[in-house]
Amino acid sequence: AQERYASLRTLPAQSKCGTTTRLLMNAGLMADLPSIESSGAEGVGLFRTELQFLVRNQMPKRDELAKLYARVMDAAKGRPVAFRTLDIGSDKVLPYMKPQDEPNPAMGWRAIRVGLDKRGVLRMQLQALIRAAAGRSLKVMFPFISEYSEFAAAREELLRQRDREAALGRVVPAELRIGAMLETPSLAFAPRAFFDQADFISVGGNDLKQFFFAADRENERVRKRYDTLNLSFLGFLEQIVARCDESGTALSYCGEDAGRPVEALCFAALGVRTLSMRPASIGPVKALLRQVDLREARAVIESARRQGAETARPALMEWLATLPE
Ligand code: PEP
Ligand code: MG
Repeated sequence: AQERYASLRTLPAQSKCGTTTRLLMNAGLMADLPSIESSGAEGVGLFRTELQFLVRNQMPKRDELAKLYARVMDAAKGRPVAFRTLDIGSDKVLPYMKPQDEPNPAMGWRAIRVGLDKRGVLRMQLQALIRAAAGRSLKVMFPFISEYSEFAAAREELLRQRDREAALGRVVPAELRIGAMLETPSLAFAPRAFFDQADFISVGGNDLKQFFFAADRENERVRKRYDTLNLSFLGFLEQIVARCDESGTALSYCGEDAGRPVEALCFAALGVRTLSMRPASIGPVKALLRQVDLREARAVIESARRQGAETARPALMEWLATLPE
């Protein structure tokens, strides 16, 4: 199988119906960078920036971060890299920040909530990203956005830092693409203006699923209880796809499920055109996507729904078993 995946490396994830799905990879460590070439990813759909903050015992310096981010962009050789600003709080606690005693950290003061309240850290990180990009294009996404005003404020901050850098005579990014992670159900119901303003939206399915089903992602016992192919969840995803289509907003899915072939196939069948996953998943996901007709997959999902099934999985597995190798 490894060899088969290697032979697919340079081929597109084009399904029998002619639709091509863009496969990107998730990263966060400098050690991940060689995978950009070797995995056949078309770019980095999620660069988690927490790790550079977590491995130190003091706040990293702006110039140090700028160097690291520049190395990431160098390694991507012009392929897009979506840098996600710091998502701390919840399960990720910085050793040099005062620990917050919160009853429920996953729903607590985390990610963009911290960023907007502690502007200094957010600003420093945005400046580092702008300097790293220099004249190249820069893609930034903000984690855990729950409402439009949070996105608008974070975006405003980024534009302000860009203008400030320009005023200081530095070369600023040639192009700036600013996106939001959709990780809380509320954002799917945000006003149209949010979808118009966001250059792209990336579904953080790990968090979105946990809040959709009210099932802690860290708690095995409840996490496994709800299938990602549950038709309520897939129906919710379809609504997100529809809203993004309406406003012409690029949509991707970057939770762990995007790297599971059957799940990836479902997301693609429902209209998600970009999936971001761990590098090792690109081969298996691509192999399956190339083998199927997404319209057929969608018909199987629709039929499972009409029959009142709770999840599309059994019907999909049955259909997949009938496909020629
Ligand atoms: C997610 O929530 O799906 C996601 C990609 O972010 P993280 O796993 O880092 O919370
Ligand atoms: Mg998340």
